[in-house]
This record gives sequence, C-alpha cells and structure tokens, in this order.
Amino acid sequence: MDFTKEKIPPVREDRLGACNAFGGTCHALSRQAKTGCLNNIRRSFTQTQGCQLNLSLIILSTIRDTVIIVHGPIGCGGGNIPMANGIKTFQKLRDPAAKGVVWLNTNLDETDLIKGGEEKLEEAILHADREFRPSAIIVINSCAPGIIGDDIDGLAEKLKDRVTAEIVPVHCEGFKTKIMATAYDSLYHGILRNLIDRADNPVPAGEAKGNSRKVNLLNLSSMSRIDEIELERLLGVLGLEARILPCYAHPDDFGDIRDAALNVSVCATHDDYLTGHLREKYGIPVVTSDIPVGIAATGKWLMNIARFFGLEKEAGQLIESETGKLEKALEPYRKLFKGKRAYVAGGEIRIFATAELLADLGFEIVGLHGFHYDRFMDDLLESRPDKEKMIINIGSGQPFEQSNILEKLKPDLFVGHLGINGWAGKHGIPVFAIFGPGASYMGYKGAFEISRRLARILRNPMFSRNIGENARLPYARQWYEKSAFAYLEDGDPTSQPSKGAEYGQQLPA
Ligand code: SF4
Repeated sequence: MDFTKEKIPPVREDRLGACNAFGGTCHALSRQAKTGCLNNIRRSFTQTQGCQLNLSLIILSTIRDTVIIVHGPIGCGGGNIPMANGIKTFQKLRDPAAKGVVWLNTNLDETDLIKGGEEKLEEAILHADREFRPSAIIVINSCAPGIIGDDIDGLAEKLKDRVTAEIVPVHCEGFKTKIMATAYDSLYHGILRNLIDRADNPVPAGEAKGNSRKVNLLNLSSMSRIDEIELERLLGVLGLEARILPCYAHPDDFGDIRDAALNVSVCATHDDYLTGHLREKYGIPVVTSDIPVGIAATGKWLMNIARFFGLEKEAGQLIESETGKLEKALEPYRKLFKGKRAYVAGGEIRIFATAELLADLGFEIVGLHGFHYDRFMDDLLESRPDKEKMIINIGSGQPFEQSNILEKLKPDLFVGHLGINGWAGKHGIPVFAIFGPGASYMGYKGAFEISRRLARILRNPMFSRNIGENARLPYARQWYEKSAFAYLEDGDPTSQPSKGAEYGQQLPA
C-alpha cells in the first residue's frame, strides 16, 4: 500500500503491530506476538517514554544544507541541544564545508493555540529561506499544532513558489504513538513525498539497474564515519559503489536515490518504510539482513548482498580472509571474556546482533532489553538457541524495571544506550555503550574494536565498583522484592495475576 498518498503516515502500532510493553522469555514474546495480542499489554505504572519528534529531529538534523523548523512550543526538540555540536562535527567529516545544524522554533504560545500557528510558521519559513539560503527547509510538526490542526502541507504548497528551498513537512507529533521508532516512518514519509517522488525529479527511476554496481547504503544516526568507511571498504572489495544516506547526506542525494541497483539496509526497523516504497514504486530490490555487528552477522550481510550480484565466490573469499585474520587477533580477548555474564539493551535489531557477538567472544548472555517489539524481531526471537529461558524486557524509558532486573541478575557487564547506562552504572556494573557515532562497531574492524574496548573496561572494574558503592538508586528495597514486571498488565482486567508478574517469576529472587 502506498502510504505516501496521504499527508500523514500511519503509526507503528497500526502498521506493524508494534508494542512497547512486555516482560518474559523470548519464546513467550514470540508466542504472544503470533496471537496478535501484544498491543493489549500496558503498564499500570510507567515512568516516561521517548517522543518520536526527538528521534526525528536527531536524524533530520544530520542532513546537510538544511534549516530545521520545529513547529511547536519552545520546549519541543530541546533534547537536541546536546546533540547539535556532535552533529556539526560529524557533518564536517562528510563535507568540510558543512555548516552544522541550523535550527529554528516557532515558539507557539497559548494565544497561537487558539488562533492557529500557521502565521508564525509562514514567517519562519520565509525567514529561513531569506537568511540561510538552504537547499531544504524541514518543518517538524509537534503535538500542539497537530492537535489544533495546522495545515503544514497546505502552507508548504502555498509558499513553494516564494522560496528557493524545498519545503519538507514531517509529521512526527509525539502524542500519536508510544513507539519512538515511528519517527523513521514519519521522516521517510516527508522525504519520499517531497524529495524523492517529485514529478520534476530528473533522475529516471530504475535506469541504472542491470549491470549497475551502485547501491544505496542506508546508514543510521548511530553509525560512525568509521563504520561507514568499513562497510564501504567491504562493498568496494566486491566492486560495489555505495551512496550513503539518509544521515549526513545532502537533500540532492535523495533525488538520486532512484537510480541504484539495490538498497542495502543495515536495519529493517530503521528502513523498511523507505525500502518498501522504493521496491513497490520503482522496482528497486532491497537486502535487509542482520545489522553487520559481529563476525557472523557481517559475513551474512556481505553474502546476502553478493548473492544479488552473483558475487558469492568473491564474497566467500573476502569473508574467509577477514575472519582468519580476526580470529587470531581475538584469541587473547576470548580468554578474558570467557564465562562473564552480559545484559544487552537497545534497539530491537542491534541487541540480537550484539548478543551474538558477545556470545561468540565467550560471554554468557543473561538478558535482553528491546525498546520496542515489531515483526522484524520475530525471526531473531526464534533463532535464539536459549529462547525458552532467555529473559527479554520490552519498553523504553522504564529504568525501574531495568533496575529490578539488574539487581536480580547481577551481570558482569551491561551493554546499552548512553541514556540508560547511568542506571546500570549505579548498580556498580561495568557499562559499555551499544553504539556511538564516534566509535567503531560495524564490520570486521568493529568486532575487533568492540573487543578491545570491552577488555579495557573489564580488566579493571574498580571504577564501576566505586560508583556502585557510592551512588544511590532512587528505589525502595520493597521494589526489588517484587517481580520486575509487576506493573505489566495484558489489558484484560479479569486476568489475574498479570502476565508480567507471572513471567517475572523466571528471574532469580
Ligand atoms: S511529546 Fe509532543 S509536546 Fe512533548 S516534546 Fe514530543 S512533540 Fe513536543
């Protein structure tokens, strides 16, 4: 179905049956997903959750030569303040002349919510075009104008002949979804409608297929330039030319996207909205396998791409040569990691690949935490050899559940997002960031660099122990005596005890 005919994309709860509340085993999650009832699970107590506007803003801010207009109250998008400096640096790694993030806010107040905010947005668009002369002006819609019904698409249409920049409305109002990953669909929806599907796009769709070796390598805002160089290197050995986008790309790059022979995604959760549309509308196939984090996943990723071009033999030789060298280099690390217990938290695709790498390095995986579940997790859940007993917690912004689980499991290592690692650190557990836009994680180089950094953390865990002994967590002792999933309910008030409490019994007391 072509969602881009509509101004506003669907949310992931509706499109993919996504859910953000579950506690139990991988097998139980897989079983319940098949019944289609995951959407009914809710928390009777919840701490906070991510807003899709903030994730959209992080990704869209990376696009060079743009002005971002956050249409909303001044606080919306404030989460991007600590990101802006890093994004400027990372933009310059791709283009030394890049200007960094130029970011305006329409600063809607109570009066605007009564009389409408379109006038302020019009003024902001005209100002952005006149003052900064960007290639694109990206209008990010927040809750308030979404609720009062500001027509940002109508305004973009009205102003298009008065500005030189392309206007890209993005509907990422936070109140519409509990699944932060809906941001990927919202921003790709705006990009597809305004930069790719344009009737005046001079790039003929599908022309370069056949013998073309050009691929769209779809990156993530969590990827570093080092990761991109590693993946480009591996594709280059196969004779493939990578065009990297959407992050840190130029708006013009999106117009060119239609001439590639293949879309290469490293994360289905991130890209399926875009790649599905490009496949249906322009016939561009897609390879979406595991994220190339770890030795096995990188090999699988490469082989799937090679298979499309009939380059299996070349890929086989490359994989053999790279893994041979790597296995030797990893020997001393494997001895150090053997038997250490690790808990892995993050995006649904990355946690499984990272857990597989850690297991390969000798760690025992004691639990997983995914920010949300959708159908892209199904095969990953089923593929875990220990799925009957492996604990998995689904949710974002619930550190109380995480704290309870960590208190019971007491892992030797916590691997997770920067935003939640601090809570694990207060338990005295050594922490390792599951991604970092300034470090190496992907491909064969990434597997080695992850091992090297992990060894540095685990050789001397005194820093973490000192934090654990001197920092206080905000939860009462009674909370740790309860099931970590005591506040998860399946939406049926007659069902007692809640499924969450029942599954929580599988954690040690
Ligand atoms: S939830 Fe709504 S009001 Fe809050 S930051 Fe997100 S868009 Fe703004």
